Amino acid sequence: MLNRFLSPSQNQWLHAFEQFSADEVAPYADEWDLHEATPASVVKKLAHNGWLGGLAKEESGGLGFDATTFGLLNMAIGAGSGSLTGLLNVHSMVLKTIEDWGTPEQKQQYLTPLVKGEIIGAFAQTEVGAGGDSKNLSTQFVDDGDALLVNGQKTWITFAQIADLFLVFGKYQGLDTAVLIPKETPGFTITAKKNMLGFKSAYLAVLDFVDVRIPKSHIIGKPGFGQNLISNSALDYGRISVAWAALGVQQAALAASARRANTRSTFGALLADQGIIRGYLAEMSSSLLASQLICLSATKAKESRDEDALEQILQAKLFASHEAGTAAAKAVQIHGGHGCDESNGVSRLYRDAKILQVVEGSNELQKMLIGKEVCNRYSYSAV
Ligand SMILES: Cc1cc2nc3c(=O)[nH]c(=O)nc-3n(C[C@H](O)[C@H](O)[C@H](O)COP(=O)(O)OP(=O)(O)OC[C@H]3O[C@@H](n4cnc5c(N)ncnc54)[C@H](O)[C@@H]3O)c2cc1C
Repeated sequence: MLNRFLSPSQNQWLHAFEQFSADEVAPYADEWDLHEATPASVVKKLAHNGWLGGLAKEESGGLGFDATTFGLLNMAIGAGSGSLTGLLNVHSMVLKTIEDWGTPEQKQQYLTPLVKGEIIGAFAQTEVGAGGDSKNLSTQFVDDGDALLVNGQKTWITFAQIADLFLVFGKYQGLDTAVLIPKETPGFTITAKKNMLGFKSAYLAVLDFVDVRIPKSHIIGKPGFGQNLISNSALDYGRISVAWAALGVQQAALAASARRANTRSTFGALLADQGIIRGYLAEMSSSLLASQLICLSATKAKESRDEDALEQILQAKLFASHEAGTAAAKAVQIHGGHGCDESNGVSRLYRDAKILQVVEGSNELQKMLIGKEVCNRYSYSAV
């Protein structure tokens, strides 16, 4: 359905992404989910294809994807494995942050390896005491000569178990600040976080920093840029990733449901011939179309730097992830008891869809931000 709105090059990319997802991701995603691990081989293949550095500009060695093409990648991979979109998401956020905000030295040291996927980036903002309320981080960066001492803890950090470079947010002299911390730094420990509801093969981890010494040259941008500039500009891409991954979840839920309806008989007739089930499928396909259009509008707005691009990205993330949850719930319902089996793909879609509503700013946070935009827009109206 989306194809008619895409350029020839975007359509070519979509075909390649879908082929990869069908061959290398979808057949194995349930197994990865049950074992809470993603094989290194699939990460290497994504890197080999250049897709881990897809968003980077061509002069940085990347493929120069526009926002829509990045969305298409997340959609295709998301139809196979929601967890794997977590890698595209956080790695791309770190990469874009260094490309957009990094010093020449930071770029020279880290950008090329990130673009090539030789090292993996992770985005470390959330703490047990501060998630959406990210102004209240307690991680501290304190002066220690020409270095900073880092103390604090981060939790639920996606792909942290295999990441090499962490973009870590905290406070420096009371100012929101972001720094780069490599994995091997003394005092930095990474502990696997298992048994999550969804995104089970997304290698989540808890990060502990105890007197971790980092050169001040590892600050990204300037002290004070942490939340308003660095985090928010990275999260634009994070939200695009989540919104389009939600399209993948909806597609997969619809396809699995239609296939089940075409083969499962109850009371002497196929589910596909039962009006209620057809109604579910109709609702799912209509929501998918609406979600596709809102996501496409948001990435087009981002590409043309429209004034309302931020609002549209928030709307796309809110709407598509909500509809993914609804579609996945219907898919489980259509599969009955089979859909409630942990090893069944629709069970995974249902659990992953819930994660999409929580990450990259929970959907309540999206509503707060969109509502503020709406109120600002009408602040001068006479009535
Ligand atoms: C699978 C997974 C992967 C993640 N990956 C990362 C990662 O890579 N990096 C990272 O930094 N973080 C990551 N997170 C953390 C995630 O971003 C946070 O969990 C999220 O931002 C919500 O923060 P919180 O959990 O502290 O919820 P809280 O802030 O405690 O909020 C709890 C609930 O209350 C709602 N709420 C809060 N305040 C209000 C309000 N004023 N009005 C109405 N409702 C409100 C929230 O929407 C939420 O539903 C991940 C989380 C998960 C589950």
